[in-house]
Amino acid sequence: MTPYINIHTHNEYQETESVLFVKNILLHQVIFENIDASKYYSAGWHPWFVKNNNFERIANVLHQYTAQKCVIAIGECGIDRAIDVPIQQQVEIFRLHIRCATKLGKPLIIHSVRAYSDILQVLNEEAFGGTLIIHDYRGNWQQVEQFSKYETYFSFGKSIFQGIKIQNLLKDLSSGRILFETDESDISIEKIYLRAAEIKKTPVDELKEQVMRNFNRIFGNELD
Ligand SMILES: [Zn+2]
Repeated sequence: MTPYINIHTHNEYQETESVLFVKNILLHQVIFENIDASKYYSAGWHPWFVKNNNFERIANVLHQYTAQKCVIAIGECGIDRAIDVPIQQQVEIFRLHIRCATKLGKPLIIHSVRAYSDILQVLNEEAFGGTLIIHDYRGNWQQVEQFSKYETYFSFGKSIFQGIKIQNLLKDLSSGRILFETDESDISIEKIYLRAAEIKKTPVDELKEQVMRNFNRIFGNELD
């Protein structure tokens, strides 16, 4: 049976056959021993925790963790305009992640708060050529088009229970570009798929198969 895929979560789950999840590791608080090489992870230095950490330390930790095979994506990382961390400092750390993703050939998981245009600008300056997963996507159609310059996937979570705008966007967005996540919420991934299937007027099983194809397209070379 095709599993549900939870592309981005901070919670610890029991592994089951019906759900495949990618657990996010916040590198500022990482404990090496907790990583289980048989599972899938993403690892990055979240912009919220950039302040008061020096560049070399972040670079060292990032390179040490992301090279591991079980770390299949780099992030979440990005830019957040709702926090009290200088943008310039956030950009510097975001660049580190972009270069790391490029070097390792792994996708980037993007965190953005009111910063899609900043992110597009930095990606452009870095001549990024890899894959993007925009976590908790809440942007508009214009931004979807701008991101389509890259191999971009848009990940949806609890916001699809809330805003009509994001529901309309999900309804019309190509299923070949979507992923789902629980992030920090307690909602189950099954409920998120169910809601998305309603919005897209698609049977859940079809949605599961489509997301699985997306997952394989993104990670096919990394997993075996
Ligand atoms: Zn997150």
